[in-house]
Amino acid sequence: MLFIENYQDAKDYHNGLLKCWFNSKLYTETERRNNQFQCTIRNCPSCVKDRKYYSKTLHEDIRRLIKQNIDCILTGEVGQLVEFYETNSSLLNENSLEIENFFVNSAYKNFFQTNCAEEFLNLLNKNTCIYCNRNYTLAIVKGRTRAEIDHWLPKTHFPIFAVSFYNLIPSCHSCNHLKGAGEDAEWWVKNHKEIANPYSDKGTFDFNYTFSKSKNEFEITFENVSNPKIRRMIKENRLREIYSAHREFELRDLHELRLKYPDNYLKDLLAKTFSTSISEEEKYRLIFGIDKNEENFHKRPLSKFKNDIIKKLLSL
Ligand SMILES: [Zn+2]
Ligand SMILES: [Zn+2]
Repeated sequence: MLFIENYQDAKDYHNGLLKCWFNSKLYTETERRNNQFQCTIRNCPSCVKDRKYYSKTLHEDIRRLIKQNIDCILTGEVGQLVEFYETNSSLLNENSLEIENFFVNSAYKNFFQTNCAEEFLNLLNKNTCIYCNRNYTLAIVKGRTRAEIDHWLPKTHFPIFAVSFYNLIPSCHSCNHLKGAGEDAEWWVKNHKEIANPYSDKGTFDFNYTFSKSKNEFEITFENVSNPKIRRMIKENRLREIYSAHREFELRDLHELRLKYPDNYLKDLLAKTFSTSISEEEKYRLIFGIDKNEENFHKRPLSKFKNDIIKKLLSL
């Protein structure tokens, strides 16, 4: 898993947009005039396309709950979201269908995914899946092929957090579907503090591997796991299974690069192939197709994995 940093622009965009959208759905026209709400987003899709239709069907208790807690719902960190859920669970569960319809269908699918997800992902500026760093999540065809958005607290159990900023993680298709959804909301209430979250829990681990000569087989391992939350994240996101798919490809290639050539080949490749004016980062990009600096791992697939393995091989 990579960490999401420098996300203020994406957060401001997200918050401005959704404040505007919710404002139009939760308040009548007269109330809106009295509120004097000012939209802050240029060419705001809510103002321009979605129009300001008051959502008449919302149950009054739910409308009040959302109005009073809109800041927490939109920009609360995951811990605050879970706290909000626990405090209001009976009301939320009694009205779960209505909430799912309003938050998942109207706010997330019809409004956010359709009109704003692309700009949101551009502003977050992560080129590869946050969970696995294996797949590009770049927009290739406008509005069609791009990152999926994973809900860290699954929207099946927590429809009310379908558009909550800290719950939205740019991910690839397989991670979005492989990641454990947990049994139910209670499972997440109990377990959320134990699992690293890409926005809030910085932590480290190193990829490593073992090789059995007799079986000619590789095994991916994880070491120097900095804290139990990272260990738990590795398990829940199924990183071992996911990376096992790379044993016979990238891992075997690197392993052979080190062992089939003279002892110093790998070191020489890095030290002697290029003129000295080329930076270490550039060498890694040109030779291995990866970024060397941690803050740039997201830019190219498998940067974290290959960096860790190369480090091991250089020390053999
Ligand atoms: Zn607006
Ligand atoms: Zn992924």
